[in-house]
Amino acid sequence: MALSYTGSAHVALSQTTPMKITGHPIALAWHQYRHRIALACAILAGGALAGWGVYAVSYERQLVRVERASGPRLDRFATVLFAPPARYTYLPHLLANFRTLREALEQPSDPELVRKANVYLNRLQHSTGATALYLLDPQGTAIASSNWQSKGSFVGKNYAFRPYYTRALEEGGAHFYAMGVTSRTPGFFLSQLVKVAGTDEVLGVAVVKVDLTMPSITDGSGEILVTDSGGVAFLSSRKDWQYRPLNELGAREGASVERTRQYEGVLRAPLNLHIEQQLESGAAIVALDENGRTDRFFMARRPVPETDWHVNVLLPLEDIETTALRLAVITAISIVLVATSLMYLWEFRLWLRERERSRTALENAHGALARQHEELKALSEELRVQSFTDSLTGLFNRRYFMESAERMLGTARRHGEPLALMVVDADHFKRINDEHGHPAGDEVLRVLARVLLEETRDGDVVARYGGEEFIVALPRTGETAALAVAERMRERIVLQKVVVPGGTLSVTVSIGVAVAPRGAAHVEELIRRADAALYEAKRAGRNRVQAADLQDSLLTG
Ligand code: GH3
Ligand code: MG
Ligand code: MG
Repeated sequence: MALSYTGSAHVALSQTTPMKITGHPIALAWHQYRHRIALACAILAGGALAGWGVYAVSYERQLVRVERASGPRLDRFATVLFAPPARYTYLPHLLANFRTLREALEQPSDPELVRKANVYLNRLQHSTGATALYLLDPQGTAIASSNWQSKGSFVGKNYAFRPYYTRALEEGGAHFYAMGVTSRTPGFFLSQLVKVAGTDEVLGVAVVKVDLTMPSITDGSGEILVTDSGGVAFLSSRKDWQYRPLNELGAREGASVERTRQYEGVLRAPLNLHIEQQLESGAAIVALDENGRTDRFFMARRPVPETDWHVNVLLPLEDIETTALRLAVITAISIVLVATSLMYLWEFRLWLRERERSRTALENAHGALARQHEELKALSEELRVQSFTDSLTGLFNRRYFMESAERMLGTARRHGEPLALMVVDADHFKRINDEHGHPAGDEVLRVLARVLLEETRDGDVVARYGGEEFIVALPRTGETAALAVAERMRERIVLQKVVVPGGTLSVTVSIGVAVAPRGAAHVEELIRRADAALYEAKRAGRNRVQAADLQDSLLTG
């Protein structure tokens, strides 16, 4: 049997040995971790990409939401803003048609008529809640006013430069927002032309001034600005933006503001608002540079009905950007966390699988080793058996016989028991070989061996001594018994048919028997005596049993 020392166990073990890589430690680390590093980069890139996408979508959606919300809000604001002045639109007409006032305009030099007008205007101002009521003569000079008795009385002041006067002359009436040049308080001016009844002759202009304040609308965030036709923010939720043009005033607007003294003493530097991106809805993304920093806003605007004003809402983009950024960061972190967890889970699974594989490999290796061990054991057993067995007959060989016979002789001597020894030799065996062939001779030897075994007891040792010679040791057997056994053997062999190719044949044996008495010599001596007896048997004609000469034994023993 061929032994395989390079079995599967060795292969399995060598598979788990790590690949040997030489080089710089960093290169080594890179080589070991490059897959993991690549995966980590991919996860980070994925997180960043998702974050960027979420940022863009969130930003866009918030803009749309803000745009949608800003429209109704602006409409509501415009309505609320214009509600107080609207309540007073009837008042200039009332003044223009009131007799006491018309009389004063007709005869402004009559102190009594003018006084009556003053008193009337004052009373009416109190009952209506307007800021001031007054009458201008055709040249624009106030001849009577509700505040005629107060320090800042309008009486005697000329307002011909005010559009509410000039436009009243041209169009019959006007609205106009301005800072009061006398009172220094902002207001909305409503005017009505007063004519001589039935003619186009101008008697004067009746004026109502109403305070215009920023309506307190608290819904939604951002700043609200009300701008006039020139772009000046005359009302603003942010105090520092009030009375500032959105951009540098044009030459015409500048001249007009100058001429009408509309924002006298309060007009401030422009805000310098510039459009960065025009949106489809008409709204825009605007930037405002101030104090060295740029703030960006979402800006939507609506015209205020009945005026040439606009209401503007400005929402800091920072809010939208912060919300979008927060969402983006949360998304990116979540993605990175989830992906990292999945990666580790995957690696853990791989590790488990690898561990299972190693375990199986180890088990296989162990199994292979155990099998090899078994094979080796069987082999060594085989070798052991071979070492004392004759391969042709399966009997013990000569070496084994010599050892065991020596032991048996020792035991016999100790116990004072006899030990019989017989040498069995096939008669004319050469002839069998010659006539029937060597294989037939082998078969005869096998048959002889079987018969010898069958005719002996447990404890007897039967061995092939060499060639066609057998030897048998019979412990605790005296000469008489030994001779009986030998005789029985001989007889059986005579009757035994040996089947060979081409027929059957028979064989006879001669047997020499020697028995070791008390104090017997060595095994060799015993064998020599049995041999001598055998020789006697051969000489006497073969196919017989011969006991060794007792005399001979006594001589040598
Ligand atoms: P005798 O009766 O005097 O013993 O004659 P013999 O022919 O048996 O004795 P001899 O010693 O002349 O011949 C023994 C023969 O046995 C010679 C040898 O070829 C043959 N022989 C020895 N070992 C084997 C064997 O293992 N197989 C076979 N077939 N023949 C064997
Ligand atoms: Mg012989
Ligand atoms: Mg012989």
